[in-house]
Amino acid sequence: MTDLNAGNGAPKRRILIVEDEPAIRELVRFHLALAGFEVVELGDGAAALERGRAHRFDLIVLDIMLPGLDGITLCRALRTEGANRATPILMVTARDTESDTVLGLESGADDYLAKPFGVRELVARVSALFRRHERLDRGAVRDTHHLTRGELTVDADKRLAKLRGASIDLTKQEFDLLYLLSANPGIVFSRQALLARVWGGDTYVTERTVDTVVSRLRRKVETDPQDPELLLTAWGVGYKFVDEA
Ligand code: CA
Repeated sequence: MTDLNAGNGAPKRRILIVEDEPAIRELVRFHLALAGFEVVELGDGAAALERGRAHRFDLIVLDIMLPGLDGITLCRALRTEGANRATPILMVTARDTESDTVLGLESGADDYLAKPFGVRELVARVSALFRRHERLDRGAVRDTHHLTRGELTVDADKRLAKLRGASIDLTKQEFDLLYLLSANPGIVFSRQALLARVWGGDTYVTERTVDTVVSRLRRKVETDPQDPELLLTAWGVGYKFVDEA
């Protein structure tokens, strides 16, 4: 397997895994270590809070159902104070239910993964989160004024999107939504997060508005709007732009 830790003598990136089921914890630990990460594992929410307040990690994989302190409460607490307020958090949910995943994302997690998951998907999500945070660290999201995603280009300065070289006519919301999602490939945004980011908390719009704008966008940018390849649905949660290959 490829070493995702990018080598060149840099210290290994440290990942904290909080998971009470030993078999899953061991599986996750094994595969992340294989991918080149240094891994610290804990099986108890209260212990994880203590460790997470005191020591900075580069990423945290957090199960929702934990003894001691549940993952949602733990995530909120880590976001409030301590060494990991800005650390990327991947939430692992027991069921692919809307309430769990939305709660997870609204509590400050960056992405979620539903059990049962494949280890390849886990490693891919972890890598996507690292890529996203490194772009944020470099301030590159703001500077990514010109994005190319396959046959689609998005120019934030000119507020212009093109598909196979031809301009696409987009409303302000359509453009903002397309730009936000395409600047963060592979990252799930809940409808609520999209409303806050694209509509700026406008009280006249509802989560249904997000679905409507996504449908309109798909008709403009997808080859087959019924079978989207760029603007993907994260069932029960929201939307994401297809991850980079
Ligand atoms: Ca659990």
